Amino acid sequence: MPIRQDDNRPSRRFGLINLLLIGFGVLLLFSNFLPNPATQVPRVPYSLFIDQVNDDTVRRAYITSDQIRYELKEAPAEGAPTVLATTPIFDMDLPQRLEQHGVEFAAAPPRKPNFFTTLLSWVVPPLIFILVLQFFARRSGMGGGAQGALSFTKSKARVYVPDEESRVTFADVAGVDEAKAELTEIVDFLKKPERYAAIGARIPKGVLLVGPPGTGKTLLSKAVAGEAGVPFFIISGSEFVELFVGAGAARVRDLFEEAKKKAPCIIFIDELDAIGKSRSGSMGVVGGNDEREQTLNQLLTEMDGFSAQDKPVIVLAATNQPETLDAALLRPGRFDRQVLVDRPDLSGRRTILDIYAKKVKLAPGVDLDRIAQATAGFAGADLANLVNEAALLAARNMRTSVEQGDLNEAIERVVAGLEKKSRVLQPDEKKVVAYHEVGHAIVGHLMPGGSKVAKISIVPRGMSALGYTLQLPTEERFLNSKEDLEGQIATLLGGRSAEEVVFGEVTTGAANDLQRATDIAEQMVGTFGMSETLGPLAYDKQGGSRFLGGPTNPRRVVSDATAQAIDKEVRGLVDRAHDRALAILRHNRDLLERISQEILDKEVIEGDELKDLLASSTMPEEAAVAA
Ligand code: ADP
Ligand code: MG
Ligand code: ZN
Repeated sequence: MPIRQDDNRPSRRFGLINLLLIGFGVLLLFSNFLPNPATQVPRVPYSLFIDQVNDDTVRRAYITSDQIRYELKEAPAEGAPTVLATTPIFDMDLPQRLEQHGVEFAAAPPRKPNFFTTLLSWVVPPLIFILVLQFFARRSGMGGGAQGALSFTKSKARVYVPDEESRVTFADVAGVDEAKAELTEIVDFLKKPERYAAIGARIPKGVLLVGPPGTGKTLLSKAVAGEAGVPFFIISGSEFVELFVGAGAARVRDLFEEAKKKAPCIIFIDELDAIGKSRSGSMGVVGGNDEREQTLNQLLTEMDGFSAQDKPVIVLAATNQPETLDAALLRPGRFDRQVLVDRPDLSGRRTILDIYAKKVKLAPGVDLDRIAQATAGFAGADLANLVNEAALLAARNMRTSVEQGDLNEAIERVVAGLEKKSRVLQPDEKKVVAYHEVGHAIVGHLMPGGSKVAKISIVPRGMSALGYTLQLPTEERFLNSKEDLEGQIATLLGGRSAEEVVFGEVTTGAANDLQRATDIAEQMVGTFGMSETLGPLAYDKQGGSRFLGGPTNPRRVVSDATAQAIDKEVRGLVDRAHDRALAILRHNRDLLERISQEILDKEVIEGDELKDLLASSTMPEEAAVAA
């Protein structure tokens, strides 16, 4: 079968270069390392040579720059060599000494540089360098050709031109109506830029989507492109910052270059915080900082630079850490529009569930409203995952459609990680976990705050949870009163308190509870101004990750006395809640025993059964007073 010339050529060229290289290499090796007969002469210390000269035993010497070969008048012993060599050291007196002792000596003629090796040493290194460059160029996937060697500065953006089938539209995104309304306007800009230009309205350049992970920011920006029917460049902020210094900035330049050719279009920079971190606030980051700064500066320059009114390039970006962004990014003319993409509320969750429920076979009578109610705090991605998990469960159990039970179990999976049936607790551990969880449940049941205890389980789940108490809010709540928060702290401490009441000692199992309880208490004092002694001041600075629930905010600069007062206040809140939990559990000691015994048998108590059991709990006088 004939091979077309084109197909064949690159590999043949490569083969030729290889061959040449190998040839050069071999020659180089030979010219330098060919075994030299001179090196076979035994080497002796220089001092011995001098001694022998002084003893008049040397007949003649031949001196070159790197060795002295000399012949003795007679062998010092039977069969010993008469020709020896030594390494010369800088010795001005040597000729004189040799002359004195009548040694015949000569020096080598100056060495003529070998033309061939000189050529090699000039040609081979650049050749290797060029080959390495070409290797990199080829790897970065930007083809060969003249610009091949420079292609690590090429933007890595993937262009996504929406076609009819895979097009994402606003109909695919649910539960984020405000964001959708704002972005509809952007779609309008992209579709009819003339209309805005005619009035003289300035089209926004940058729109920043802000929100927790998995709420559909990426999806929304794809939907904008889909609705407007324009090309969509998608790149992640971290892809700008890579191995080569200066490459990030060059990539930004290249990206905007490409985009301008395809205008009107959208550039979407995911995870903007990877490049846009505040320049002043990034202390402690070692290395890569300058690089990021350059990239950021280039981005700012590019965003200031383009102003094609009739052919708009709109930069969408997404982040879940808006607080860390550099202020320069948020100025007018850059990302001056910020769209909040938050976790969906009850009705939003319902519509998202509808979208994903359509993709699976649902058994008749499945109540998605109940699922929406039970998933407060879930983001869109969690809900999509939930429906998929339910479908997997149904399939595993040989069912042909997804039932309510599957969805319920999927909630628990998503909440608490996958069930680990294989992990077995020791009987005494199990007992501690049982009392601990029942402690949470009883205190939680009696506390205000609108949450009802829905389930207690001592089946280990996921990586670390040994058991858990599931509390479901009875209604959607956006505001919490001081009393609610105190109740939450007491509930969190209920587990540890139960261990104290029953066993008189505590275990390590409560670490996470304590962490969360302390966080709430700190926020009450520092963020919500709920302390009477310290007044309605925010002692915490805004910052930190509001959305990710990460470490709490750094404190404002306060006097030592205030810092102490804050600590005391936080301590007081937690202590009071602890006392309350202890009082409640002592008061309901019999109930605590009864439910714990029951859960040790059954491992899980939920629904009406749990409700009936908890209904007999009572609030002690003292705890009510403490509240
Ligand atoms: P983000 O970029 O905000 O982290 P993504 O847009 O990548 O989140 O969301 C991940 C997936 O979760 C999406 O592909 C989609 O399947 C689902 N999803 C998230 N939010 C929504 C939503 N509001 N409506 C429908 N699906 C959603
Ligand atoms: Mg995303
Ligand atoms: Zn606990």
